[in-house]
Amino acid sequence: CKKDMSDIVSLCKRRGFVYPSSEIYSGFAGFFDYGPLGVELRNNIKRAWWEDMVQRRDDVVGLDSSIIASPRIWEASGHVAGFSDPMVDCKESKQRFRADQLFFAKVADGAGAHAGYVSLLEGADMEAAAAKAAGALLKKLKRDGPAQLSPLRDFTEADPSEYALVPSPATGEPGTLTAPRDFNLMFQTSVGAMTDGSSVAYLRPETAQGIFTNFKNVVSSTRVKVPFGIAQIGKAFRNEITPRNFIFRSREFEQMELEYFIKPTDVEEEWRAQHAAWVETRLAWHIGIGIDPALLSIEQHKPDKLAHYARACSDIMFKFPFGVSELEGCAHRGGYDLTQHASASGKSAEYTDEETKAKYVPHVIEPSVGVDRCFLAVLCSAYAEDVVNGEARTLLRFHPRVAPIKVGVFPLVKNNEQIMESARELHKRLQRRHNVAFDAAGNIGRRYRRMDEAGTPFCVTVDFQTLEDGTVTLRDRDSTAQRRVSPDELVAFVADACE
Ligand code: ATP
Repeated sequence: CKKDMSDIVSLCKRRGFVYPSSEIYSGFAGFFDYGPLGVELRNNIKRAWWEDMVQRRDDVVGLDSSIIASPRIWEASGHVAGFSDPMVDCKESKQRFRADQLFFAKVADGAGAHAGYVSLLEGADMEAAAAKAAGALLKKLKRDGPAQLSPLRDFTEADPSEYALVPSPATGEPGTLTAPRDFNLMFQTSVGAMTDGSSVAYLRPETAQGIFTNFKNVVSSTRVKVPFGIAQIGKAFRNEITPRNFIFRSREFEQMELEYFIKPTDVEEEWRAQHAAWVETRLAWHIGIGIDPALLSIEQHKPDKLAHYARACSDIMFKFPFGVSELEGCAHRGGYDLTQHASASGKSAEYTDEETKAKYVPHVIEPSVGVDRCFLAVLCSAYAEDVVNGEARTLLRFHPRVAPIKVGVFPLVKNNEQIMESARELHKRLQRRHNVAFDAAGNIGRRYRRMDEAGTPFCVTVDFQTLEDGTVTLRDRDSTAQRRVSPDELVAFVADACE
């Protein structure tokens, strides 16, 4: 990505894309509010996904399942027992960290004798901070420096009693870490008036299980035939130990998930090809909504990193300003989920092939992407700065399909009633189909600049010539080229561009 995270965060705040949640009460870590432009961008991303994955396909149907459901679902799916991350605490500062997000270095004193370990959150100046922490650790242990550092990736390699943690590279003061322990990421709540254990329920940590538990309902209430998919967009909640990197890892987020049910096959070539086809489809989708292909890559999980039931998993990665990280996961989950729910509920998940009468539990391919991560990738791809007529501008080159505002309508002057009237009329006409802005304040150049920063792809100006021949000036955000078009041409052009 061309920009620092801080540029993106401040643009989001300044222009009303994203605000930190509960800001007037000093914030609430891991939660965010989406402002007027943000909610439009989010909705457009979700709409594009729904159109492309559901409405424009003949083999996928939609679903909207409840956020809170029977806790038995999460027992059967394995989330109650195993949806956890390794957590460590700093004994002094009481801060908590996700162990696998810490960077470790082994420290030796000047004579090369082992002294302990330092660890800190991954970050740009990690090496420098580690060196500083190592020095402080030696001082604390009254050993001689200079510290010798050797990086250590795997948490399990080190003895927790020898850790020194640097919560903040600024302080440089080492703390001591507890041993790692599992921390379940599901948020608990209670349902009904009882407050004993029987009322415990969970906010869903993914939308997928609502799809699996409705598999039979969808099969018997619609005309779907394997292979087919069920798609869902909805909120998910995870009590992340260290929410960070803005909206990349938050505690409340939204997922767009699709479970594509296929006939099981043990022919490796076949199921690998089915999985690869979905990875390709999803990669093309991201590029299609304006994510920069140069910042996208695919990472295949190594067999030893796969969940025990998964046949394959590929992540679509994006080069965020803080590094290359997962944007979307695309897993071949075999028949695990349907089988788990069938044995826990006692209700069969078998599908009967109408023609051959063969019965089987389908396998499933799951492309799963976070709306918020997609939002961030779209924003990072669109962020640009250039110089037009000697003047620097910041612009967001959103694809018209996802742009929060599609058109800015400007009357050239405020004090001409005919021009104002004609601009209002055009604005109303465009508003029937699109989110459109009307701006009569300030000089035209400034109005263009405001729209450029909001990522509005087109601006139209109603001027004196409009009163003569009805045409308006259409200005393109990226090239800044202008041409005259009739209102009918404009309406058709915008509709086409935003499809
Ligand atoms: P990570 O390894 O980054 O925690 P994950 O592999 O646990 O992610 P999945 O369980 O595969 O993620 O969830 C599917 C998608 O949901 C992810 O690719 C991501 O886009 C999104 N997602 C998951 N956790 C979060 C989160 N805490 N905040 C925002 N989006 C998330």
